[in-house]
Amino acid sequence: LVADDYGPSHRVAETLTTEGYSITHSTSTDDAVMRAMDGDYHLVLADDRVGGDDVLRFCSQLRSNEATRHTPVLIMLDDGDTERLAKALDLGVNDYLVRPVNKDELTARVKTQIRRKQVEDNLRRQYEKSLTAAVTDSLTGLYNRRYLETHFEEVTRDLAGAEKPVSVMVIDVDHFKKVNDDHGHAAGDEVLRGLAKRILGGVRGFDTAIRLGGEEFVVLMPNVEARAAFPTANRLRALVEEEPFDISGDGSPLPVTISIGVATGIAGKAPLSELLDRADQSLYAAKKAGRNRVISADIEDPIEPAKLPEALRA
Ligand code: GH3
Ligand code: MG
Ligand code: MG
Repeated sequence: LVADDYGPSHRVAETLTTEGYSITHSTSTDDAVMRAMDGDYHLVLADDRVGGDDVLRFCSQLRSNEATRHTPVLIMLDDGDTERLAKALDLGVNDYLVRPVNKDELTARVKTQIRRKQVEDNLRRQYEKSLTAAVTDSLTGLYNRRYLETHFEEVTRDLAGAEKPVSVMVIDVDHFKKVNDDHGHAAGDEVLRGLAKRILGGVRGFDTAIRLGGEEFVVLMPNVEARAAFPTANRLRALVEEEPFDISGDGSPLPVTISIGVATGIAGKAPLSELLDRADQSLYAAKKAGRNRVISADIEDPIEPAKLPEALRA
């Protein structure tokens, strides 16, 4: 309640308290703005005259602030003050009451606004949840292919024009079918979750890890050239090989290896599909060459880590 400290506002507060609402009373709009931003109010009920304060400005402040943008505002004004009412509604005030305020009308309008806010809050929460669900993979929590496609467009748009490189790696678990066959599908799922964690832990903050589907993952590396992408991929590969996966309910940790194909292009010139295709071909070559290795489509024939210069080794 934002109103002067006088009889009518006391009666409003009394009526609503009797109805079971808890009220805080501000006698200045500055105080009310602070409180509204800090607290989780279901409704702001404002007199159109509060001391010498500009209540309409207060209403527009509420609307322009992220924390209070969706808070319903009810304004109380004199009968016949249509010009001021029109302004208030224009600023986003949700409803109004005419002074002297009728008790039944007050409780009815307050109840309606609060119910409407609750419905809207629920809808907004569900919408946000569905947005997240649409771009994430439920097993690993990583982003999915749909996200990769839109994110790739954004990333390359930012880098395009400056002839910056963009690299992708396609990661595939070696002999994953055997993990499922020997230890069960649930154990396979655990390996995928553990692998997702290691991938996230092994890449930079700018890189994006995606589960493409099944036991295939992609890491998008903006502004990373081929010679830098290769050791990053190789480090990931080593991170997986070096530490067998702890599968709950199974006594001995499970050794897992991955193969990785890397491809690099110029941002804005190479489409995602082309990069993924080339990385996929390198992945296939890595599988054929014996698995547990990295091959880049853009560095001379399969490079064994041992043949790399010291600085580029994992
Ligand atoms: P390669 O080294 O050639 O990649 O052999 P692979 O056995 O990993 O390859 P393949 O493509 O034959 O097998 C992939 C297996 O991954 C088959 C499928 O059952 C399993 N898989 C795909 N998605 C999931 C999943 O979400 N959970 C589990 N547990 N297994 C999955
Ligand atoms: Mg596969
Ligand atoms: Mg595989």
